[in-house]
Amino acid sequence: MAIDDVFIKAFRSHRTKGDLFHHDQRQAHELFQTSTIGALMEGIYDGEVTYGELAKHGDFGLGTFNALDGEMIAFNGQFYQITADGKARPVMPSAKTPFAVVMFFDPTVKVLWEELTDWDHFQQAVDKAVPSKNIFYAVMATAAFDYIKVRTVPRQQKPYPPLAEVAKRQAVYEHEGVRGTLVGFRFPDYAQGVNVPGYHVHFLTEDGRTGGHVLNFRMCDATVQIDVTSDLHMEVPDCGDFLDADLGKDQTEAIERAEKER
Ligand SMILES: [Zn+2]
Repeated sequence: MAIDDVFIKAFRSHRTKGDLFHHDQRQAHELFQTSTIGALMEGIYDGEVTYGELAKHGDFGLGTFNALDGEMIAFNGQFYQITADGKARPVMPSAKTPFAVVMFFDPTVKVLWEELTDWDHFQQAVDKAVPSKNIFYAVMATAAFDYIKVRTVPRQQKPYPPLAEVAKRQAVYEHEGVRGTLVGFRFPDYAQGVNVPGYHVHFLTEDGRTGGHVLNFRMCDATVQIDVTSDLHMEVPDCGDFLDADLGKDQTEAIERAEKER
């Protein structure tokens, strides 16, 4: 059976049984988000939420750091910061974030995907399999990457430029023949302004030394796990620049350029 069909079957069996969503007492499956991608696009790079506080809402996810000091990836209970020099290190609980999305990951489906796939095919295959494009998905894949291209954003000085400007000077790294883990989310198109519509994925090598925001890859021997959720808990800043920012404009193109350009 082709991998696309394996994926479709995996979701269908949960949908038929009605156990796509896990409604348990713990806040598993609830996505917790601090601030919005729209605010980040506008250069609001300082938040008041510490990683210590964030960890109460989840130990799996992605985001960034105050002053836009690199990319964050979290899984298996560990938070990592990948700075513009490409180096990954553990995050101190006192570090703060202007934008992050986390959850307690408890996957609904798990599929072994041995054949070679690339970023485009991966997104298409998951899109074909998921029961709806109007709910939220957390994605984790551990695989062998014969190629992966990532970027990391460089720490900014005030006055902060918009993210579209920063993205022009982002550090891009290409790796070949590495094992590692992808962690990310698929948000609906209607989430534009709140989060990145479609897929947003970060990467960490198996040795924990490098990674970043994913721009492209080819992988094989993947274990792909997906958590389905319809719960999104968002907290936006109640002080600072967020209050005065103009967050009403259509940022579709700017987000596309800043987050998805290859
Ligand atoms: Zn990112």
